[in-house]
Amino acid sequence: MSLKTKLLLFVALSAALALTPLAIMLVKANWALPIRDISVGLAFFGMAIAGMQFLPIARIPWLSDVVELDKMYKIHHVVSASSVLLVALHPLILLLTSSVYYSGFLIIGGWIGLAGLVLIAITSIYRKQLKISYTTWLLMHDLLTLLIMVFGLQHMFKRNYYMRDPAMAAAWILLIVIWGGLMLYMRLIRPLILGKHPYAVSKVVEEGKDTYSVYLKPEGFKRPAFKAGQVAWISKGPSPFVISRNPFSYSGSTEWDEVRFSIKKAGDFTNTIPNLKPGDRFFIDGPHGTFDLKNERMQKGLVLMGGGIGIAPVMSMVNTIADTGDKRPVYVFYGDLNEETAAFDQEFDALKARMNLTVVKVLEKPISPEACKYKGYITKDLLLSTLPENYKELFYFMCGPMPMMNAMNKHLAAMGVDHAQIATEKYEMA
Ligand SMILES: Cc1cc2nc3c(=O)[nH]c(=O)nc-3n(C[C@H](O)[C@H](O)[C@H](O)COP(=O)(O)OP(=O)(O)OC[C@H]3O[C@@H](n4cnc5c(N)ncnc54)[C@H](O)[C@@H]3O)c2cc1C
Repeated sequence: MSLKTKLLLFVALSAALALTPLAIMLVKANWALPIRDISVGLAFFGMAIAGMQFLPIARIPWLSDVVELDKMYKIHHVVSASSVLLVALHPLILLLTSSVYYSGFLIIGGWIGLAGLVLIAITSIYRKQLKISYTTWLLMHDLLTLLIMVFGLQHMFKRNYYMRDPAMAAAWILLIVIWGGLMLYMRLIRPLILGKHPYAVSKVVEEGKDTYSVYLKPEGFKRPAFKAGQVAWISKGPSPFVISRNPFSYSGSTEWDEVRFSIKKAGDFTNTIPNLKPGDRFFIDGPHGTFDLKNERMQKGLVLMGGGIGIAPVMSMVNTIADTGDKRPVYVFYGDLNEETAAFDQEFDALKARMNLTVVKVLEKPISPEACKYKGYITKDLLLSTLPENYKELFYFMCGPMPMMNAMNKHLAAMGVDHAQIATEKYEMA
């Protein structure tokens, strides 16, 4: 099935499921109490889209290359915020128009569900300020989701204004089955599948200060194919049943038997990477992501811009291009702090002999003045003086800290590069 068909199916299915309760209500409500009907309609729509959030975050392999990961998470954030607003409007409208509806046992479930939704929103937006670790937040997110579903649905079914209609009850039961199925998939079925495909560490290589490459060997199975530029969620330890997995770009060639991830120390999980031993077990949930070197827009040549550990997906692309005998011109712009943090010098040198590769390294604060020809940041002038005349026909990929990506986007816009010729990978989606 083509990617376009999959995307259409995904959008049509999500819209149909999210809109069905509202559509049934519009057709069947007698509008005797229009204010109440409108407020309930908003809450129904809010609950339906809240539940559909399992779809974009379940990381279903069939959808893994359909929507860009950061777009998928952006959709998740926007739709979640909208669902909180829509559900909150329901009691607000009723409270403002009548006092009859604000208390009573049947309503408590609704208030608890709404409180859960608001808590999810607050802890998601202000997680870092509230100093909640990512794993704790994920656990809270799961528990609050369960609370919202249980109490929200209890309120809807117990209130029983609209659920008396068999079509409405059937629609909600169908939604509950789908949500439950997706939750079961995420928390039980997917780990069981991953458990059948363990990987073992074959080696860990220090690439630069605080950056390590981990090579993982599939244990007794042929590893799934991936595309350069794709991402996987990985977990360490004997069991695939974990609270959270961490996302990393593949940094090795698609042609190697082993997979490689290049990881910078950043916190609880990544700090343990230097202590890994050969044979340590990993589970890999992937590949995910839409980047594909075969895309026709990329055939004239590539400009790959990596900042810091954002160089990881670039390494996968250049290694794959070299291994497949691809002769496209490739320009790599690599920005890092200094000669100690910068990685992959020798690998780039070896790759230059095997492919049409130009590497421009820029160090923000080199320790020694001779360490690098270019100091500071990647500028528009540096891009223009390095790239060929037909630079507008090349395809641009960038991955790095947000300030770097914003600066690069500005340079490319000023150079007249079409937006459709640019792909970005953000490492901040949670
Ligand atoms: C699509 C994508 C690709 C990435 N590729 C690479 C890569 O190739 N190499 C690399 O070094 N880093 C990569 N990262 C960043 C990497 O995932 C985080 O640095 C790492 O997960 C931090 O985990 P920690 O436990 O060490 O740190 P923590 O201190 O626990 O977390 C630091 C921050 O990392 C983020 N984070 C932590 N866990 C997760 C998670 N499970 N999912 C999403 N974000 C999380 C949170 O914003 C958190 O605040 C990528 C991130 C994304 C979103």
